[in-house]
Amino acid sequence: MADTAYDPDNIFGKILRGEIPAHKVYEDEHTLAFMDVMPQGEGHTLVIPKAPSRGLLDAEPETLAAVMRTAQVVGRAVKTAFGAEGLTLFQFNEPAGGQTVFHLHVHLIPRHEGVPLRRHEGGMADPTVLADHAGRIRAALEG
Ligand code: AMP
Repeated sequence: MADTAYDPDNIFGKILRGEIPAHKVYEDEHTLAFMDVMPQGEGHTLVIPKAPSRGLLDAEPETLAAVMRTAQVVGRAVKTAFGAEGLTLFQFNEPAGGQTVFHLHVHLIPRHEGVPLRRHEGGMADPTVLADHAGRIRAALEG
């Protein structure tokens, strides 16, 4: 189990309830994917479950399956949209594990040979650029 209970007032809970905007790329019954506002690489995307899970440790197995299914679907599109050679997934649990937003999420980052990741939470991206990147991923999902 997680160390602490789920708090619905977290920022991804607010995105799920439509209380704050996000550059969405994919949505189904159980999951949502959108652009990370502080990307560690071009195309950095987050996949979250709609179920209120704090992290890996308190999520139902069905929730984890849905998140990973979406990570595969969106991961393929992200890799295609950015002409990447690889794809890195991250998932952090609790502050000591590097987690800063306490709603389960998987990071998807397209990777290019020899290009290092930028720092975690290194700086806000231009919203116009994020909107363009989200459009590229949605187009790859449709293609
Ligand atoms: P972590 O909890 O450490 O896995 O990281 C949370 C991630 O959420 C970071 O990469 C942030 O850049 C990202 N983030 C924080 N707020 C938002 C937001 N409103 N929309 C999209 N991404 C966000």
